[in-house]
Amino acid sequence: MPNQYRWGVHRLSELLGPLVERGLASVILFGVPTLKKKDDVGTLADDVDGPVIQAIRKIRDLFPTLYVAADVCLCEYTSHGHCGILHEDGSINNTLSIERLKDVAVAYAKAGAHCVAPSDMMDGRIASIRRGLDAAGLAGRVTLMAYSAKFASAMYGPFREAVDSAPAFGDRRCYQLPPHARGMARRAIVRDAQEGADILMVKPAGPYLDILADARELVPDYPRACYQVSGEYAVLHAAANAGVGDLRALVEESVTSMLRAGATLILTYFTPDLLTWLDTPHGP
Ligand SMILES: [Zn+2]
Repeated sequence: MPNQYRWGVHRLSELLGPLVERGLASVILFGVPTLKKKDDVGTLADDVDGPVIQAIRKIRDLFPTLYVAADVCLCEYTSHGHCGILHEDGSINNTLSIERLKDVAVAYAKAGAHCVAPSDMMDGRIASIRRGLDAAGLAGRVTLMAYSAKFASAMYGPFREAVDSAPAFGDRRCYQLPPHARGMARRAIVRDAQEGADILMVKPAGPYLDILADARELVPDYPRACYQVSGEYAVLHAAANAGVGDLRALVEESVTSMLRAGATLILTYFTPDLLTWLDTPHGP
């Protein structure tokens, strides 16, 4: 992941200050707990001294204009590295998982996140989080962005290494979508909208533009996000380094194709580069 680092909460001002000055409007947070030991229910996810809650508070304080989203999942915080709570036999306990994810989402919202974004793909977690936000009196104040069509992609490797969330055993194919599963992706998008999501997301982005176009047709009145994942970022850098093309041209074409397919919001590691490029005319 060229130019990508984990940042300590105490260095957020140094990281974000120059970007906000250049027009950065929103961020999404992923926590990497380093001080305390992980357990099997992901207690550290909503630890008040943990990285996400600390970062939400700090960023709201330092940069009042910045829109703060927080990824909601358990895999960065569980000792087994799975996105939910497990039965004894290692299978997902869906009921306990969506309860726990709800608690984490509500804790982030209470800490000041404008948006909570569950990325776990457990059944019923959008409805559970929606109920939790309503019960906490946060319904009208917090946006719920659902990772709806999240595929079991080969392109998540660099991220998992960066946040140390690779599953200790098994894989995530039982709760993420197989790459060929267009029908399941379409159903997941509609289901999450019906369960109360405010933004629907497709992930990864580039290899799934058809799903993004499907989302535009299925939920035309919703904001639609796509996530250009770590592997996509790494591939474009590798291509540029190998002399395949110019990095800026490759990246601009990739994000333009996402907008063309129906995205209204793009999550990308190229944001700092794009902020520069948007202000810099192309050469002769
Ligand atoms: Zn996860």
